[in-house]
This record gives sequence, structure tokens and C-alpha cells, in this order.
Amino acid sequence: MNKRYVSKFMLLCVFTQLFLYVAPVLSQSTVLPSTAPADLILHSGFIWTVDEARPQAEALAVRDEYIIKVGNNAEVLKLKGAQTRLIDLKGNFVVPGFNDNHVHFASAAQFFWNTQLMDVHTDAAFVQRVREYVAAKPGEPIRGGGWGAYEQWELGASKSDTKKDFWIPDRKLIDAITGDTPMFITKFDNSLYFANTASLKRASIGENDPDTENIAHIRDANGRLTGAMRIKNAREMAAKFLGGDQQPDHQKRIAMTENALRLIREAGVTSVQDMSDHEQLQIYYELLDKGRLTCRINFRYGLEFWEQMRALGLKRGFGTGMIRLGAVKGHIDGIMGTSTARFYEPYDSDPEKNNRGRWRPLTWISPDRPTELNRGPFTQMMINADAAGIQVTVHAIGDEANGVMLDMIEAMTKANGAKDRRMRLVHAQVFAPRDFDRLQGLGIVAEVQPFHLSDDMRWMEERIGYERCKGAYAFKTLYDKGATLSFGSDWPGTTASYYPINPIYGIYAAVTRQTVKGTPAAGWFPEQIISVAEAIKAYTRGSAYASFEENIKGTIAESKLADLAVLDTNLVRTQPANWLDERGAVKVKTLYTIIGGKIIYARK
Ligand SMILES: [Zn+2]
Repeated sequence: MNKRYVSKFMLLCVFTQLFLYVAPVLSQSTVLPSTAPADLILHSGFIWTVDEARPQAEALAVRDEYIIKVGNNAEVLKLKGAQTRLIDLKGNFVVPGFNDNHVHFASAAQFFWNTQLMDVHTDAAFVQRVREYVAAKPGEPIRGGGWGAYEQWELGASKSDTKKDFWIPDRKLIDAITGDTPMFITKFDNSLYFANTASLKRASIGENDPDTENIAHIRDANGRLTGAMRIKNAREMAAKFLGGDQQPDHQKRIAMTENALRLIREAGVTSVQDMSDHEQLQIYYELLDKGRLTCRINFRYGLEFWEQMRALGLKRGFGTGMIRLGAVKGHIDGIMGTSTARFYEPYDSDPEKNNRGRWRPLTWISPDRPTELNRGPFTQMMINADAAGIQVTVHAIGDEANGVMLDMIEAMTKANGAKDRRMRLVHAQVFAPRDFDRLQGLGIVAEVQPFHLSDDMRWMEERIGYERCKGAYAFKTLYDKGATLSFGSDWPGTTASYYPINPIYGIYAAVTRQTVKGTPAAGWFPEQIISVAEAIKAYTRGSAYASFEENIKGTIAESKLADLAVLDTNLVRTQPANWLDERGAVKVKTLYTIIGGKIIYARK
């Protein structure tokens, strides 16, 4: 680091440990005199800065990776030189690049490589989707599926609802399209599987074979195999139906990653905070070396890796602006979708079984008692990680899980003393009223994904009753009681629910508390509605704060990284109902995505 900047740097960093990434920001943005021309100027727009000092602007200028000027057209256009690229925004809307606090990148990459049939429940849609897949990836074994998810949704009811005549695929529809390419896909809830004729042959299943202990075939009116079946040993059978190794090799994972990066760019997202496997991290580095990584990555290992991280000196702030490590993620309970989130009282939908959900099996702590939360050792891991300078983040969904988490955070704070640790409560979905007041003073980040609300509200009251729902997805109360709100998507979701990467869904959910179809009219527990400005802030500055990076990104201000999204819709001047079409799909378009001053996506 250049000596000139040391004193500035020390001033900025004395209370934080931002050494590794603040230094380059200063050294590069102060090298050229401020009168040197800009590389890029965006002008004549509605720039929503998320910076309280100047909430709105008309133009901005970028040099190298950084924003060097924010202001009106006249002020900013003074920085235009012979080489400056100008973009006339034509009144369009600019926000800091969205920062998604929670993605499962490797799962998403695989999910989008496979066929996607969640919205498919007709012959015509099935045929079309298979045809598209075969055209795009000729010869690639056809996996994935998820058919019937939307059909079930459209019933608007819980998982326990049954309908006898659900749509079921038939191999005669697609055999001519798939030919010799094997195809093995699943219904969204894994209640049925489907193989084409090529796959049935691979598994040596013939037309006249009887059902077996593990496989019950669905036959048509003439007794012919449709290819649909119930399977007990599905994982084992997948290998037979598809043939070969089930795990994609490294080259395929790189291709999957690039495909997923494209979807992220198209959504105006410039940073994601990921929880994937080690190979995914290696792929990010490989793409970074080749100049092909188009999204900033914050990567979290599991909490159980804290010791290895400490041994290697990996702690908060480690890495560069493109790939950063330094946080760990643990889990203490299940999820709402399967009624496994842990509550103080039983689920209303399951009173006989006295089901209160369950603690996350922590086999590495208590192999003999995997269903108990082993509080002492779990808390001790948090304390150890925190003491080593590693940021601790833990998944808690049910009200008891969140209450217990607060106990653990209090214990951690007591053991290691007060400091700026920004403990992240991951999901924080349902809070008991008495626990909200405990947030004050703990400096917690609520790492929430508001689209869960649009999705889950359809059955939340049936599961946990009206009273408990008052504390569900309670973004306003979490904020009022002292948590910092950070937003993200949980992309790509579960087998039953797809959580899109597009931040508009999350912002829409937080500001309307409606399903994507606009119900209920006044919003679900509307007292928890937050403003569009607050929602954008949570999806930009809030997520930058969550990863200790608010000094370099999350707002549009001078000396911040030039990470920007340009949208065709002014989110603060339009009604959220206009952001979605009648089918509930986002119609707001990303026009440009810019990262570190580079245009990585421009809509054609
Ligand atoms: Zn998740």
C-alpha cells in the first residue's frame, strides 16, 4: 500500500477490520486528480442513491471502478472527456446494484441447468418445455422437473389437500422429441417420478413388467406404461434411468455457473451472499482469473468450519471486493414449508401429534442424539468463531428457535464482550411478541427474504394460527426494535417453492404483503408494511452492512464502487401492483447492470 494513504486508511479503519478492501478503494480513487475526465457518465435519470445526504440525483460519473461524482446533469457532465462513454438514462430509474443476502448458488446453478417444470401441468406446456430443453442442450440427460407445483398452488391450499385428477406426464408425448436421450424427472413433491422410453430401457423395464416392491407404475386406460411411477428407492433408480455418474463434473459446473451468473446480471444484482460447497468457491476463483465473474460473492462456510478458518487466519474482511470470506452459517431448526420450524407451542394444523417442529439435526455435535439441540456446544462454537473474528450467522425460523437464538447471542456477547459483530439472524421468520424487545442493543442483522411472505401467507394461519402470525415476517417490528434489515431471495428455493433471484419480487412482498396475485387487498398483517425506500435500502445498503461492506457499496455516492442497476420503472413513483403482470410475473425490466464501472448487462 502506498504510504501516502496510510494515515487516511488508519483513520477509517481504526474501529473496524476492513484493511483488505478499504486500502485499494482509497489508493485507486485518489490517484487521479478530481478534474480528470470520467470513463462513464449516466445522465438525465432518476437516480435513487440510498444516501441520506443526497437521496436523489440526475447524473453520476464513474472513473475506473468508482463513482466520482453524483449530482445534476450540469455538474456531472463537466467531467466528460474525449473518451467518456455517455449513457442517456432518458428518465429511467437507477439504484445501487442489488445485493442479495442469501442465495444457494450451486443449487440454483443446477436448478437452471435442469428442466424447470414447476409451472407445467398440461400436455402442451410439457411438450413445449421438453422441446426447448432438447434444442438448447442436445444430448444432455434430462433431469429436474418439479411439475405440478403451480397446479397445487392454484388450489390455494395446504400441502395436505388432495385432488384426484392432477395432471400426469405420459412418455408418448415426448418420446419422439427426446429419442435416445434419457429423461428422468420428478413431481415437485417427489410423490411421482417420470422416465421416457429411453430411460425405461436403460433400467430394463419393459411394457409387461409387473410392479415391484419399489416401483408402482401408472398405466393408461389401455394398461400401457405412461412412464410415471411411484418409486421408493428413487436415488438409486435415478442412476439406472439416467446412467452414469449423477454428479456434474467440473467443466459442467463451470457452464452451469456461467448460466446462473447470466440470470443474476439480468436481475440487476451485483452482489450475492452465498452458501455453497467448496468446489463452487473454486469455480468463482477460476472465473475471476478469466475475467468472467460478473457478480461479487460473499461466501459462507458452515459454522462447523470455524476452527479450520481460525487456523488459516480467515476472518471477517478476508478476500477482495469480488470474492470475500469471513462468515460462517449454522442452523438450529427446520423450515415452515414442511412444518419443521421449531415453535414454543404445537402447530395448529397438527395438534394431535403435538408437533412443535424440530431442532436441526446436529450430528457432528451429538451423533447419538441428533434431534436434540445441544445448546452448550452450539453456543460454544458461536463464541469461538466470534472470538476468532469470524462473523456468525445462524438460521432460525420458528418462534422458539428465534428465542433460543437470542439466548445464545446474549451468551456470546457476554463471553466475548460488546463489539461490532453484526450477528446475522438468518430468516428470522416468526417471533414471539416477548422476544422482539430483546433485539435492542444486540446489533443484530435480520437476514430476511421477503418473498417467503408472498409465498407462505397462503397457509401460515392454518399452520400456526392468527395470533402467532402477528410476529411472522414482521419486518417493520424487527426494524423498529433495533435490527438492521437486510433483504435477499433464498434463490432457488425448495422443491415445492421457487424463490426468484429478481429483487422486485422481494421488494413487492415487503411493501404490499400480498401474494403475486395481489391478495389480500389490504395486505397480510398490513401493520408490518414498510416503504419502498426502506425496502430498496434493505436490498442494497442493508445487505452491504450485513457483510461489513457499507463503506464500499450499497449507496450511490462518491468513492463508492460503481455497482448500479438501471430499471425501466421508477419504483418510488409507481404503484407496486404495476410491477407484476396478471400472472404474477415481474414486468419491471433491467436496462443495465453495471459492476465496478463495467457494463455487464445491457438490455437489447
Ligand atoms: Zn437458504
